[in-house]
Amino acid sequence: MGNTPLVELEKIAADGEFRVFAKVERFNPGGSIKDRPALNMLLDKLRSGELVPGRHTVIESSSGNLAIGLAQVCCYYGLRFICVVDVRTTEQNLAVLRAYGAEVQVVTEPDPVSGEYLPERLRRVAELAASIPGAYLPDQYGNPLNAAAHLTTMREIDEALKGEVDYVFCAAGTTGTLGGCAAYVREQGLNTSVVAVDAVGSVLFDSPVSCSRLIPGHGTSVLPSLFDPTAADHVVHVTDLEAVVGCRRLVRHEALLAGGSSGAIVAALGKMAPRIPAGSVCVLVLPDGGDRYLDTVYSDAWVRRHFGEVTHLWADDPSSRDTPPHGAGIDLKETVSC
Ligand code: PMP
Repeated sequence: MGNTPLVELEKIAADGEFRVFAKVERFNPGGSIKDRPALNMLLDKLRSGELVPGRHTVIESSSGNLAIGLAQVCCYYGLRFICVVDVRTTEQNLAVLRAYGAEVQVVTEPDPVSGEYLPERLRRVAELAASIPGAYLPDQYGNPLNAAAHLTTMREIDEALKGEVDYVFCAAGTTGTLGGCAAYVREQGLNTSVVAVDAVGSVLFDSPVSCSRLIPGHGTSVLPSLFDPTAADHVVHVTDLEAVVGCRRLVRHEALLAGGSSGAIVAALGKMAPRIPAGSVCVLVLPDGGDRYLDTVYSDAWVRRHFGEVTHLWADDPSSRDTPPHGAGIDLKETVSC
C-alpha cells in the first residue's frame, strides 16, 4: 500500500506559470486513497491484540472506497466485516465488497429530518455494534488513525519533490487526507500551503449555499469529529458540475481517468490559479480512478439528466488537441452552482 505514482501534468494548466503534479492514489491495491486509513485503523488494533482474526467483527458505514479498503484488509487478516451502505451504493461496489467476503447491510430510508442517508447509516452501525460482542468500529469520521495514515501520503510527495512543494490540494470528506497531510507539513516545518477542496453544500467549511450533492467523497453532510478547520491554509468550494467538468478535462487533456473528487481538485486548481505565483509547484492528491464512475461522471446521459446540455464546458477545437486552448482546465467561470 502507498508509494503511488506522482506524475507531472503538463497540459491541464498549460497556461499557468506553475508546475502541477498528480499523486495517483488509484494505484493502491484496493483502488483508492482509502486503503491507507483502512490498513492503519485495523493494523493498530491487530498489533495490540484488541482485534483477533476469527474472533472479532469490524463494522463501518461506508459505501465506497473505505468499505473496499476495509473489506480487503479484513479478508487478508481473516476478520468478519459488516459494511453498512445505502441505496445509492453502486452495484459495482457492492459486487467488489461481496467478492472480498464482506457482509453488506443496505439502509433504504434517509434520516427523516435531514433527508441524508449518513445519519441513518451511523444509527445502523450503532445498533449492530450493540448486538455483536467485541465489535470494532473503526469510525473513519472520528479516528485519528485515519488522518495519521496520510502522514505517509504527504511524506511520499515531499520526498519525491525534495521538499519543493508550494501547494498540496486535498479533497475533504472525513478530512483524514487533509488533516494528515497538514500534520506532516507542520511536523516537518515545510513551506507548503494546504488547500482544502470542499463541496458546495458540504457542512465542513462555510459553504456558500446548502444543497444536495452527487459526488462521493466530495464534502460531507455530518461534521467529522476529526475535523480541524486550521488544517487548511486555503479552502476552495467546488460544485458537482465543476467536479464533472474537471474530470472530463483531466481525461481529455492528460488521458487520466479519475474519480469525481479528483475532478473537484482539478476545478479547485483552476479557481486558485490566478493566485498561484509563477514558478510554484502544486500537487493534486487524486483519491481514486474513474472506473467506478462510468455510470455517473463519465456517462453523458447521467450528466445531461443532472446538469442539462453542458458538454461544451469540456469540448475544445479538435485541431488544437495537443495545445489546449486558453484556460483549458482552469477557466470554470461558465459553470453553474449546484
Ligand atoms: N474522494 C474520494 C473518492 C473518497 O473516497 C474520499 C473518502 N471518502 C475522499 C475524497 C475524501 O477523503 P477524506 O475522507 O480523507 O477526507
